[in-house]
Amino acid sequence: MTDSIRTIPVRVQPSYDVSIGSGLLGRCGDYLAALLGQRKIAVLTDDTVAPLYLDTVTAALEGAGFTVCSHVFPAGEGHKDLSTLAELLEFLSSEHLTRTDCVAALGGGVVGDMAGFAAAVYLRGIRYVQLPTTLLAAVDSSVGGKTAVDLTAGKNLAGAFCQPAAVICDTDCLKTLPPDVFADGAAEAVKTGVLSDEGLFALFEDGTLTADPGEVIARCVAYKAGVVERDEKEQGERKLLNLGHTVGHAIEKCSGYAIPHGHAVAAGLAVIARSAETLGWTKEPIAGRIAACLAKNGLPTGTDFSAEALAEAALSDKKRAGGDITLVIPRKIGACQLRKVPVAELLPIIRAGLEA
Ligand code: NAD
Ligand code: MG
Repeated sequence: MTDSIRTIPVRVQPSYDVSIGSGLLGRCGDYLAALLGQRKIAVLTDDTVAPLYLDTVTAALEGAGFTVCSHVFPAGEGHKDLSTLAELLEFLSSEHLTRTDCVAALGGGVVGDMAGFAAAVYLRGIRYVQLPTTLLAAVDSSVGGKTAVDLTAGKNLAGAFCQPAAVICDTDCLKTLPPDVFADGAAEAVKTGVLSDEGLFALFEDGTLTADPGEVIARCVAYKAGVVERDEKEQGERKLLNLGHTVGHAIEKCSGYAIPHGHAVAAGLAVIARSAETLGWTKEPIAGRIAACLAKNGLPTGTDFSAEALAEAALSDKKRAGGDITLVIPRKIGACQLRKVPVAELLPIIRAGLEA
């Protein structure tokens, strides 16, 4: 759109750009019209985001010649389910969207995952764009094409790989985030630093995340884009993005999803870092530095759930394959590795992280 905008390409088939900058929601119409052609667009969002940003997006799209319809559903992970998905699909069909029309997901990861899934299955797939409004959606969920809803048995158990046609991240949206929701995104961003780059990690230790979120988002997205380009369907390298997520998902599940994803991932990251250090899998001491960084960003560094409860919850997770579970183990800040362990070893590994 202009020079002040950071653009990160995601080179999958077909490739798309992630645009990051201030004021982009108000300017998204012309950009999307050039990309998609003026057509009908269904903006799907939740009832917290709608009063903040729906009018801006609608005006921008209509101003660029789109015919806009919108549907607002209740906010929160508790609504990321099949009944909301059904509601979205019925809405798209009641609006007579055709395969040449388009969906816009305006919101956080819940909206993005659900609207993306609706777009992936409606008429066997129509195009969609992501307009992330949380830090978590900006650094993580809006990029990479994973879409899903939760089932009773667990999170994200029904979904599809379906890449967006564009991601437009307006950093001004972060200003209205409650601190806890901002922190959720910081957890995935800190995770990215531990995975990829000590220099990026240091930005979370020195407060750059709040001072210049666009810089941090761009670096996180660039890393994720590279991983997704090399392993779109999570056959190998993309599994690294699950750092902190085995224990994190278990914490979410044990809490009945009362603990939000990012907070759970932060605790899961702190636990697996302590496990890795205690078990001698790290190249240098890292657990204390990771915990301090998470705490500085308003995130938890542990959990009250028992190792037994967490291991049981983790082993019902969809990523378990046969008798082994693949864990992401931090070796040092900026380098992690996949480690396949027998499921029976998970309990002592988690215990090492809780008790250390
Ligand atoms: P969320 O979408 O529930 O948003 C959190 C809260 O913030 C909601 O109440 C929302 O209405 C509100 N909100 C959103 N934008 C706002 C703004 N700008 N100002 C004020 N309030 C705002 O949660 P999230 O943390 O964005 O996303 C979590 C979800 O993302 C989980 O379901 C998780 O499974 C999913 N996820 C998906 C991927 C992926 O690759 N697809 C990756 C990571 C996480
Ligand atoms: Mg995550």
